[in-house]
Amino acid sequence: MRKLIKFMLFASALAVPVRALCASAWVNRAFVGAGGYVQIDDGVYAARGLPPDARQRALAALHAARGRIAATFGVPVARPMTIIAADDHEAARFGLADDVPGTAFISPLRTEVVLNLAHFSIDVTAHELIHAEVAQRLGFWTRVFELPVWFDEGVAVQLDRREPYLVDCGAIGAQRIRELPGVHAPLSPGQH
Ligand SMILES: [Zn+2]
Repeated sequence: MRKLIKFMLFASALAVPVRALCASAWVNRAFVGAGGYVQIDDGVYAARGLPPDARQRALAALHAARGRIAATFGVPVARPMTIIAADDHEAARFGLADDVPGTAFISPLRTEVVLNLAHFSIDVTAHELIHAEVAQRLGFWTRVFELPVWFDEGVAVQLDRREPYLVDCGAIGAQRIRELPGVHAPLSPGQH
């Protein structure tokens, strides 16, 4: 029965990418090179006019994030197509919701990571790259059918040192646990 429920959930989730096929964000990511973006590193795209210092900041964060992954989980094997969006407007073109710093769009064909420079950090970069890494190492279908979302997110926050995720589970009480956002309400799609 659980497998059936999981399949139903997956089928309904599939409706999202099907709708996304018609959405401009999907097209913009798929044809990022046609939208004024150029490759600034292996698989990394940024707007042609992005200032050199911003470009360097993004590449440095990617390098540092990969270093965090390597130090904890071994050398990264995922090579997601990564898009560096300069601001909220540009990020929205690629499917990021308002104020969301980054998202890994994972499909059977490939993973696309979109990062918003307006809310950029090594933590966010490492978090999204870990999602890509898990998908690559497990395979798309195994991730979908066998991996609980809480585990996927749990792995990601191991390398995400933003304040909300710095919870010492061994030292906090039940009240603090009840105060955590995910306990009261599921995270919105933009929050992971
Ligand atoms: Zn996440």
